[in-house]
Amino acid sequence: MSSLVPVGGGAPDARCKVCGKIASGPCARCRGLVCGDCCELTEGGATTFAICLPCVRRGGASIAPAWLHLLGWLGLVMLGIAAVAIVMLWLRS
Ligand SMILES: [Zn+2]
Ligand SMILES: [Zn+2]
Repeated sequence: MSSLVPVGGGAPDARCKVCGKIASGPCARCRGLVCGDCCELTEGGATTFAICLPCVRRGGASIAPAWLHLLGWLGLVMLGIAAVAIVMLWLRS
């Protein structure tokens, strides 16, 4: 995939913040400039986003911030607790 939007705005020699090569676009999460080798492309609805490798390591190749993952896990845990509670109530009646 080479569909990264080129960096415009009078910065033709913008450098990748990871390896220092010519950057091909900004990271969708931290807005840091990265080259094609130092980012991971991820589907985010209709568009494809580039996430830099430091961000991928921190929170996975997703456009959603890390707290959203945490919220998802909390939701799963709550769902499990609710399921157990329902089963307990059902067994008691
Ligand atoms: Zn790079
Ligand atoms: Zn980033």
